[in-house]
Amino acid sequence: MEYKIRVRFAPSPTGFLHVGSLRTALYNYLYARKTGGSFILRIEDTDRNRYVEGAVENLISTLKTMGLDYDEGPEKGGNFGPYFQSKRTSIYREYVDKLIADGHAYQCFCTPDDLEKMRNDQISRNENAQYDGRCRLLTQNQIKENLKTGLPYTVRLKVPNDGEITFYDLVREKVTFPWEMIDDQILIKSDGYPTYHLANVVDDHLMKITHVIRGEEWLSSIPKHLLLYQYFGWKPPKMAHLPLLLNKDKSKLSKRQGDVAVEDFLSKGYLTDALVNFVALLGWHAADDREFYTLTELEKAFSLKRISKSGAVFDLDKLNWMNGSYIRKLDQKDIEIRAVPYFESSGIDISDKRKYSRAITVLRERVDTLSEFPEKAKIFYGELKFDEEQLKIIHQENSRRLYSFWIEELQVQTEYNPESVKKLINDTQESLGVKGRDLYFPLRLALIGTTHGPDIPAIIEVLGIEDTVARLEKAKMI
Ligand code: GLU
Repeated sequence: MEYKIRVRFAPSPTGFLHVGSLRTALYNYLYARKTGGSFILRIEDTDRNRYVEGAVENLISTLKTMGLDYDEGPEKGGNFGPYFQSKRTSIYREYVDKLIADGHAYQCFCTPDDLEKMRNDQISRNENAQYDGRCRLLTQNQIKENLKTGLPYTVRLKVPNDGEITFYDLVREKVTFPWEMIDDQILIKSDGYPTYHLANVVDDHLMKITHVIRGEEWLSSIPKHLLLYQYFGWKPPKMAHLPLLLNKDKSKLSKRQGDVAVEDFLSKGYLTDALVNFVALLGWHAADDREFYTLTELEKAFSLKRISKSGAVFDLDKLNWMNGSYIRKLDQKDIEIRAVPYFESSGIDISDKRKYSRAITVLRERVDTLSEFPEKAKIFYGELKFDEEQLKIIHQENSRRLYSFWIEELQVQTEYNPESVKKLINDTQESLGVKGRDLYFPLRLALIGTTHGPDIPAIIEVLGIEDTVARLEKAKMI
């Protein structure tokens, strides 16, 4: 049979899609596209306590928005479904029964109180807090008896007590864990649902996954997973564990929702293309260190070989810079349309289409995200307010002369053009002897309420002559 690469993104629906998960999804997607393989979405929803209503819908719609089409999964179907683990519980049961029958797993009847006491005793003896394996010693008769009386139980994996396991990870290379660090992992919980470990291994095998690409936090689970593969007599997939995402101070990236949810980045006005580009570079880069890629370009350039081992810093300043560059690459019309919702929620009236369009032209050079447009556009709309320092400048004799001169000159201009404003600036220098800061500061203050900002011709371009004159008049009267 022809060998085809099959990778999967296997999120648990416990909240909105985090940027770290987006990276996992993206790398899996890119590897599938690069190799002509299949990208599978599998929902790992067996932890009913952590299930969040609406999370699956959010995951699917965010993947769609980001352009990460999957080949098999919820809504799409495929030959290896169902793609929700909660619909596969009978499959896991069948496999765990086989493990028990083969002596690789056992029923554990310890109650939460027993476990708590075991833990405390171990801690007081300065030992590792781990399951001590006491239920391994139960006789077949005792087990039968307990099952008959309906005692709740979990099923645990028999993990070797000593020795070590070594395996090869495509990113981390050779990794070794001593078995004594690893607990007799629960495979089936007392509610009858499988734990992540059992369901994940069974599904990766049944879905013919060839490469597991996921975050480094799962690396320590590999010994248990490999043991399961061995007990089942299955060939494990290849593994690639992606470096941790770090804050700038090198601490682990915050998982607080809202800080790092993809949905929040989108609603703050980050562009999908910029986010994909930025996230792609969190732990991967091409040989030439190139920075800008479209998704299609990434599909060609990506390789597992160039994933780095060391943690990837999530640098918000870089994301902002990159997003700003993407905004500036968009067509003017496109930005105008995309920015509308942000203006609508800010309450700024953009019914004057000419003014709106010109404001966007000036501000597109000055924003990092779409949501910054209304905030920055405030200088062109509504009443200006001045503080004491600013009033001092406005009240200066020079400023007053300047305002009068400009009002008079501008009133005779029927058509605005940047050249005529530049000429007016020169004329002012000649006629009034006012120049430099003495000219720009009072003018900008009168026109936009701050001393720094866009060029005077650009400001007048947005305001139009009428508004410009009105604002100068107002400053003169204050
Ligand atoms: N369900 C796990 C998660 O939420 C999947 C880990 C894996 O890819 O094996 O991240």
